Amino acid sequence: MDVDGKDLKDLFKFADYIGKKRYNRLTIRDFEDYRKFEDWRYINGKYECGTTQESRDWVRDHSDSHCPICNEYYSRRDGKTVDHKLPRSQYPWLSMEFKNLWVICSWCNKEKGEMHWYEYEHYMFLHHSDLYLTVKAARPTELLRSLRRKLP
Ligand SMILES: [Zn+2]
Repeated sequence: MDVDGKDLKDLFKFADYIGKKRYNRLTIRDFEDYRKFEDWRYINGKYECGTTQESRDWVRDHSDSHCPICNEYYSRRDGKTVDHKLPRSQYPWLSMEFKNLWVICSWCNKEKGEMHWYEYEHYMFLHHSDLYLTVKAARPTELLRSLRRKLP
């Protein structure tokens, strides 16, 4: 299946299909990655810091001064957070998959919460239509494509 040119509903179904299929085959390594992210995550809001040098370096290399969603200075939005495009609760094996990570501000991360990426796109379309195209451009298409290739 090609993920290009699919409408949102089809993509959501596709991601859901992959998610459920893989969720039933979780491995010990997946749980370790899930836990590893807790140690690795970077939060600099409220004066917290990244817990590892690796995470600090990664965040530095993958962010600038503005949140890619709201385009505000991170310093005005309680700092940087690392978010999973496909949420960790539904895709625990993608906890440490870097194609699934991006740096967004604390406010946007809270608002996104545990929404699936496609729910989130829909949500943004309805509630922040001015930011919708920005979010759509960050869609994890390449990640979905690679998941498709790895399907058993
Ligand atoms: Zn933001």
